[in-house]
Amino acid sequence: MVDIVLEAYADPKWMKFEAEWRAGRMGSRDCLRAQMALMRATKKQVDTLLDTINLDEGLGDLLETCSSQLIPVHVISDGFDYFIDRILSRPQNGLTSLWPGVRVCASHLAPNGYRWCAKFPFFDRACGHGCATCKPAAMRLLNRSNAPAIFVGDGLSTNMQ
Ligand SMILES: [Zn+2]
Repeated sequence: MVDIVLEAYADPKWMKFEAEWRAGRMGSRDCLRAQMALMRATKKQVDTLLDTINLDEGLGDLLETCSSQLIPVHVISDGFDYFIDRILSRPQNGLTSLWPGVRVCASHLAPNGYRWCAKFPFFDRACGHGCATCKPAAMRLLNRSNAPAIFVGDGLSTNMQ
């Protein structure tokens, strides 16, 4: 999601930071902060773009199965709450009824005119990996009793940890 939005609305310099991050020379927190500073778009422009992004098939089924088995589900993302909330709360996705129990741990993004400001509310200080939102740390936070937990993810921020 972040890349799609940056491709559309950021100065192409964002790709230099992306390459640094992919090479492991820059943490995602510094990378996202720098990339978002290069973005110029109104809320309406970003919303219109987000509304074209489809959810992965099967997410609804997964949430429904977990809900029926009373298994808590949370979203932990190195991306932004603004994008996640917009896409997941879209009525066509039919997730609204399952959504209230789900907690979203992600970086915070808010529009301010044409500019977008990134904040990292879950952890004041960056972790050793330099994550925007540290997935292992968020899992520990959400699972204080250390119960068995399953992590599902396919992005680079997942593989790095
Ligand atoms: Zn981390």
